[in-house]
Amino acid sequence: MASFKAVVIDKTEAGSAPPVIRDFPESELMDGDVTVRISHSTVNYKDGLALTGKAPVVRRFPMIPGIDFAGIVETSSHSEFKPGDAVVLNGWGAGETHLGAYAERSRVQGDWLVKLPDGMSAADAMAIGTAGYTAMLSLMALERHGLTPDRGPAVISGAAGGVGSVGVALLAKAGWHVIASTGRTSEESYLKALGAAEIIPRDELATKGRPLGKERWAAGIDTVGSTTLANMLSMTKYAGAVAACGLAGGMDLPASVAPFILRGVALLGIDSVMAPTALRQEAWNRLARELDRAKLASMTRTIKLDEVTAAGRDILDGKVRGRIVVEIG
Ligand code: NDP
Repeated sequence: MASFKAVVIDKTEAGSAPPVIRDFPESELMDGDVTVRISHSTVNYKDGLALTGKAPVVRRFPMIPGIDFAGIVETSSHSEFKPGDAVVLNGWGAGETHLGAYAERSRVQGDWLVKLPDGMSAADAMAIGTAGYTAMLSLMALERHGLTPDRGPAVISGAAGGVGSVGVALLAKAGWHVIASTGRTSEESYLKALGAAEIIPRDELATKGRPLGKERWAAGIDTVGSTTLANMLSMTKYAGAVAACGLAGGMDLPASVAPFILRGVALLGIDSVMAPTALRQEAWNRLARELDRAKLASMTRTIKLDEVTAAGRDILDGKVRGRIVVEIG
């Protein structure tokens, strides 16, 4: 029976078993009109939650975790894709409800795929991954709100993480004065090399502040949530906006309406998982043009499939700097 190597999470009576690498039968691939030979994946925060079972990300068993892959189309009955095409997948339930990325093969809906932009390698695409593509969605949301670098600085929380690192590089390249908030002030030189103009310690945003603080920035990208997001909003300048994409510090939002009703501040929600294809393609095309590859390389390390579970634990413990690429093919 034909099979391929995959990281698999099986169901147990107590919940879910720890992930193991095993042969997975091709006959158990799920429905879809495109089969992809996966060459690279990555480890995002959500992958850490799935691999450790710390949150109910996995909603089908057995599951192959992994929300992102890059690879080559093997077979296709979708009009947009043919064998040999280089493609990227982010989200759409991969690794949650649909067999995911930590495997040599995947069968998915062609409508979920994005063509790899010209000149971008599969490894670069996974160095970007959902984290980097979400950073770009956040920048695009701030721009759609009409914000430009001449309006004042932009703050990024969780700056040494995946979304944060790509966000710092992208906003700096777009001309923003980037204020990077981090719990790892030892990473000051790393963040400055990515383009941060100023570093502020995480604690400055993590303790409960006033409903309206001193106006410090025109824009923000928040990966942390909770009190950090509340403080970012309270210190946003008149008519500015914060793009909220993460919950690394908590899912709650102990905020006041004061920034919204007294300063016209906007809170922009960012979702990468179900984002429409046109928005994805635009984000990927812009990443290909605007993200400095040397900076991307400086924030990325590469691991093998059998190191994925440990990397999942590390990302939840806040030990991962920047991005991780998983080499599969
Ligand atoms: P990372 O773990 O790489 O980055 C998160 C960073 O947040 C850490 O590196 C750390 O940065 C900071 N952090 C961690 N724990 C805490 C804490 N308790 N309090 C304050 N800061 C903390 O994850 P990603 O960059 O991959 O993802 C970031 C967040 O964005 C996650 O919550 C993830 O689920 C979410 N996300 C959402 C998406 C969407 O579609 N909305 C898509 C992608 C990610 P530092 O050390 O610099 O302080």
